Amino acid sequence: MAKIKKKRKRRIPGTGPCPCGSGEAYPSCCKPFVDGEELPQSPAQLMRSRYTAYAFAKADYIIETTDPEGSAWEQDIDVWRRRILKFSRNSEYAGVVILDEEDGVEGEAFVKFRAVMTAMKKDASFTERSRFTRVDGRWLYHSGEIQ
Ligand SMILES: [Zn+2]
Repeated sequence: MAKIKKKRKRRIPGTGPCPCGSGEAYPSCCKPFVDGEELPQSPAQLMRSRYTAYAFAKADYIIETTDPEGSAWEQDIDVWRRRILKFSRNSEYAGVVILDEEDGVEGEAFVKFRAVMTAMKKDASFTERSRFTRVDGRWLYHSGEIQ
């Protein structure tokens, strides 16, 4: 008898709670940002929407909101996109907690957050202090330091 591979339960963007853990429904939280309809007005909003993009395997949003001048940028977009998708598929996203927000010099800000998640059924939560830069009126993720 052929063994039927059990299909992994995937998170599909819908009208349920936003993966970022804000308590809001996805359409009234991160969706307008992830879908490119609105620009996040603050680094914290961008941070949340990037977390949500990971949860929904929206690799292009991660790439588009990364500053090409920052160390988080990767030259080989195809390799990068594949790695984001693999990371998204192998992780479960329980929400993000913003711990601190701090302005830097003009057009620069820092957000410290705790990302709650599991990877391969193990706790993979981490705390990071991210640097964001404002380029042509848009906030972008520049780089991050695991705390
Ligand atoms: Zn959200």
